[in-house]
Amino acid sequence: MRREFIAGNWKMNTVTKEAAALAAAVVKAAEGVSHRVLIAPPYTALHAVLPVISGTNVELGAQNASCELAGAHTGEISVTMLADLGVTVVILGHSERRQIYFETDELINKKIHTVLAAGLEVIFCVGETLDEREAGRAVAVVEEQLKNGLVGVDASQLSRLTLAYEPVWAIGTGKTATPDDADEIHAAARKTVATMYNSELAENLVVQYGGSVKPDNVRELMAKPNIDGALVGGASLSADSFGPIVRFNS
Ligand code: PEP
Repeated sequence: MRREFIAGNWKMNTVTKEAAALAAAVVKAAEGVSHRVLIAPPYTALHAVLPVISGTNVELGAQNASCELAGAHTGEISVTMLADLGVTVVILGHSERRQIYFETDELINKKIHTVLAAGLEVIFCVGETLDEREAGRAVAVVEEQLKNGLVGVDASQLSRLTLAYEPVWAIGTGKTATPDDADEIHAAARKTVATMYNSELAENLVVQYGGSVKPDNVRELMAKPNIDGALVGGASLSADSFGPIVRFNS
């Protein structure tokens, strides 16, 4: 049985005071929900957010991590540092990291290994561009990113990995994949995982959809059999929009 999982990626937004206030509002919205709820503030706000969510059902995520553990890596943040600040889940492979910061499948795979080896969880993002979708390559691209990202990842570690399907053309654009389109890709991704590992692990894999999820489309998306959660960008920055998403089933 897969546990539904709603996550908010705040990206490069909020200073500490704003972050603490938004986290408090999310805690309120998440009161009594039985599925997982996570917020991923910027690194600089993690320290301010931790006491706000401590002892609640809201989990703390980071938006990235270094593939290295320590040393001469100016500007990088290690998983040890993140764990020290209460982070339990790290988002990796986001399309903004891939496209703007040129993160390759190989680097993302290295990061996945580093995060999992540290005992943390991963939200692993995959998704095709508009050109790739229009060329009929959406499934192939997702499969390739998935296979490359999971190279060497042991079956025993897969329960600490959530997959997020985020079509690049739907992120921050107001365009959402139709629930059927998203469900089809999720099903294909699950099939790939079954081939790489086994059908039980594939069946247990939690797959989030991300790309312009809003209060008015979340229910329809979440109703699909292969959509187990949402990774939310823009709409996670306000309690008015993230609250109803968090409470999509109540
Ligand atoms: C994201 O960046 O992960 C995302 C899905 O953004 P948005 O919800 O704004 O499309």
